[in-house]
Amino acid sequence: KVLVGTKVDENHANWTTAYNMLTGIRVSVSRTNAKLDRPLTDADFEAKQKSTFDITGNELVPSAKYDFKFKDYAPWVFRHLRALFGLDPADYLMSLTGKYILSELGSPGKSGSFFYFSRDYKYIIKTIHHAEHKFLRKILKEYYNHVADNPNTLLSQFYGLHRVKMPWSGKKIHFVVMNNLFPPHRDIHQTFDLKGSTVGRDYREEDLEKNPRATLKDLNWLRRKRHLEMGLHKKQLFLQQLERDVRLMQKLQIMDYSLLIGVHDLKKGNEENLRGKTLQVFNPGGADNADEVDPHQILLRTPSKLESARKARELREMIKAERPVPMGESSTPMPEELEEGYGRGGIFYNDDGGLRATHEDNTPGEEIYYLGVIDCLTHYGVIKKIEHFWKGLSSDRSQISALPPQEYGERFIKFMAGVTMSSEEAERDALDREAA
Ligand code: ATP
Ligand code: CA
Ligand code: CA
Repeated sequence: KVLVGTKVDENHANWTTAYNMLTGIRVSVSRTNAKLDRPLTDADFEAKQKSTFDITGNELVPSAKYDFKFKDYAPWVFRHLRALFGLDPADYLMSLTGKYILSELGSPGKSGSFFYFSRDYKYIIKTIHHAEHKFLRKILKEYYNHVADNPNTLLSQFYGLHRVKMPWSGKKIHFVVMNNLFPPHRDIHQTFDLKGSTVGRDYREEDLEKNPRATLKDLNWLRRKRHLEMGLHKKQLFLQQLERDVRLMQKLQIMDYSLLIGVHDLKKGNEENLRGKTLQVFNPGGADNADEVDPHQILLRTPSKLESARKARELREMIKAERPVPMGESSTPMPEELEEGYGRGGIFYNDDGGLRATHEDNTPGEEIYYLGVIDCLTHYGVIKKIEHFWKGLSSDRSQISALPPQEYGERFIKFMAGVTMSSEEAERDALDREAA
């Protein structure tokens, strides 16, 4: 699927749902943000706040275009998470409001989830299944602690968990707000979704012609002899962080996640995108010039970035001071660079919003990677156990994608470690193999 999407306007089938989602977010997030900050309590992780919207409104809830109910889950926890991820509160609300509110990616995966981009392309709203919703609430505290301890985590950054309930059908829609890994201002020339599995992990190369920006998979990656080009130091930092993230998912019995990689080729630059496709995301119809946003402006328009980073550091120190040091957990000490983290979301999002490829001698390479671990709310439950059983009858057990979380994680790390190397290292490897 092309990462551009269709504009959601009054004529769109999901307009009302999208409108209600954004209205609910705006009202509930401003409500929480208006209060004086305070440390989290255990109760904050279980909290939920209901609002009823209607066309008249009342003293607590402003009037809305439609009648609907909205639930905000753990609002204080997400407020703190947004701060830890270095988001500016006003910016966040700005992004999630406006006239051409969203563009819809439809349902790119098998799961039936819908994806919406905020108008400035910075955030993604993903509708999730009830099971994923329940699971996120269950693991929220561990996720929160992990984010606090890992300023450079590669895991999906969750900024909010909400539910809308439509009045006529009573239909409940759960959704999360999270980071869009891909930047608004850079053309992504190739996209890969890697799991470390090879069974069924192939996008038909023949279809690439029709759909040049399709998300490719493990076998396509291997076929292209691709690498995540990093010098030794960067590679080490990256793999250490990835391993820390995977350890958490193993502990929480999560599987089926993948490493999403968008490659920006600096030699190709932006010509294909900037004046064309990306602008369409903001103003697909081109009808209203007042709403047109220059993608270049988006990164410039973050005056409070340093401020947010400082706030995040303060929060982290506060959390560290409050929590007892976990016993017997420290295998390898975390390198200082990983401990620090800077900018929005840390060192892996710091080269123009991504991670610049490097050569063996640490000179910069010709690509920028936009990457992160996505789809990390699948608990290894009954369904997966059944799938594992059936697929296991016919395929090589270690190659199917529905492995138990422990094995899934090991295979994932092993694959990523295997493909992370500088171009020089890769060349030597190839020569060695030829010689052997
Ligand atoms: P399935 O369970 O069938 O894999 P899903 O509905 O859970 O599908 P995801 O795997 O989360 O969907 O994502 C599907 C696609 O959407 C990804 O391959 C990627 O192209 C895009 N996508 C998902 N999350 C992000 C993100 N944070 N940033 C950018 N693109 C994303
Ligand atoms: Ca997926
Ligand atoms: Ca999924």
